[in-house]
Amino acid sequence: MMPVVALVGRPNVGKSTLFNRFTRSRDALVANFPGLTRDRQYGQAAYGRYQFIVIDTGGITGDEQGIDAEMAQQSMQAIEEADIVMFLVDARDGVCAADQLLADHLRRLTKPVYLVANKTDGIDADSATAEFYSLALGPVYQIAAAHGRGVSALLDLTFEPI
Ligand code: GDP
Ligand code: MG
Repeated sequence: MMPVVALVGRPNVGKSTLFNRFTRSRDALVANFPGLTRDRQYGQAAYGRYQFIVIDTGGITGDEQGIDAEMAQQSMQAIEEADIVMFLVDARDGVCAADQLLADHLRRLTKPVYLVANKTDGIDADSATAEFYSLALGPVYQIAAAHGRGVSALLDLTFEPI
């Protein structure tokens, strides 16, 4: 059985960009419109020597009504189905209310959760990501999904934790 990795986080943090990198597809829509991926989407990932199923989700906004409620529901479902959860945050935006909301939920899980700060390209990544330690989910992994920075290292840590 291939492990299942769920990508969760609020809209626009780069979940679909990472999904596309893992699956090398353009199936997941990537755009500047928060909330574009409303349903969860499954892909088969082959990255380096790792093979896994990856689930992209629409996102959690913290304002769960209408479409947002549907997206949150899909994210919860994906979290339930996953063996491993990657919680994406936006290094440029810093900690948002929706991040805190999701972190509160993820801290209660017994399955592994990796806190991943995306969009660390072209910024001082260490200073930008420091505040995410306040989410109390352990180390903050730095990536730039759009460019591939840190993605291999993230998978090494995910699949071969020391
Ligand atoms: P999602 O809503 O979480 O699925 O986010 P998307 O993957 O659709 O990305 C939202 C926006 O962030 C798009 O404009 C992406 O091009 C941009 N983006 C994604 N990854 C990166 C990154 O590593 N660096 C930068 N600078 N922008 C990124
Ligand atoms: Mg998306």
